[in-house]
Amino acid sequence: MAESIYDKPHFQDPDSAREYLERLRWPSGKAVCPHCASIGEHYALKGSAHRPGLWKCRDCRKQFSVTVGTVFERSKIPLSVWLQAVYMLCSSKKGMSSHQLHRTLGVTYKTAWFMSHRIREAMRTGALAPFGSGGGDVEADETYIGREPGKEVRDGPHHKMKVLSLVDRNTKQARSMVVDAVNAKTIMPILRENISHEARLLTDEATAYNYARVYFAGHESVVHSRKEWVRLSDRTVHIQTVEGYFSIFKRGMKGVYQHCGKQHLHRYLAEFDFRYNNRAKLGVSDAQRADNALKGISGKRLTYRCAAS
Ligand SMILES: [Zn+2]
Repeated sequence: MAESIYDKPHFQDPDSAREYLERLRWPSGKAVCPHCASIGEHYALKGSAHRPGLWKCRDCRKQFSVTVGTVFERSKIPLSVWLQAVYMLCSSKKGMSSHQLHRTLGVTYKTAWFMSHRIREAMRTGALAPFGSGGGDVEADETYIGREPGKEVRDGPHHKMKVLSLVDRNTKQARSMVVDAVNAKTIMPILRENISHEARLLTDEATAYNYARVYFAGHESVVHSRKEWVRLSDRTVHIQTVEGYFSIFKRGMKGVYQHCGKQHLHRYLAEFDFRYNNRAKLGVSDAQRADNALKGISGKRLTYRCAAS
């Protein structure tokens, strides 16, 4: 029988998992104290009273392990099971539902739900360099999904949740956010915050983008209502990359995450952005993608806790 990826020791044994995570987070062998940030001033606490992987900082005299200050902190789930869950969410194209995680990992549904949200939190990237730096092309588009709480169902997208996504064509990265409305007042500040003024912005004809030329080096739009998908006189004018991103996102949300509340949507977007930005086409393997997710486990504030997870 072929060997399963999950036979690897760090997926099976909590101590191997801890050592794996230590090597990944502290590649030079120098641990970073999560309490005082001093580097390499740690020593192991040994003896039967101490569990392996417990370190003490010479500078602040406090104890820590590799999971302190991360989304795995204070979890009762063995670290090897966490690493399996991270790998599963990272290696399946459309993501993995909490039901599927619950069945595969043998944890309760509720625990699987909290685990997957913590992993999404690890995938979330903070403030990064603006897209289109150096004068590149950035596509922007919006899409509608599910249902906005408290809004009456009518024709059109009014009652749906709204997502804005940007794709930098040079770096091939996507950045998505939940927005309250699709109008210039809401959209333009987000574009200005996330896109360099040197960039050329590419959109459809939505009025939200009307004055974009004031803020960016260029702005071109395709007129979808006239069935213009690619401008014939300049074939670089289109938004098909961001539309491609939305098709992956929508297939995933439909197939795996059917009932997503607005308060959680940004975390699902972080997950889809993460997988897109670490996709196989960019040369990232499943194992590297999982490692990249693990590199994001620290410094994330969790807004909820679950005793079981
Ligand atoms: Zn310290």
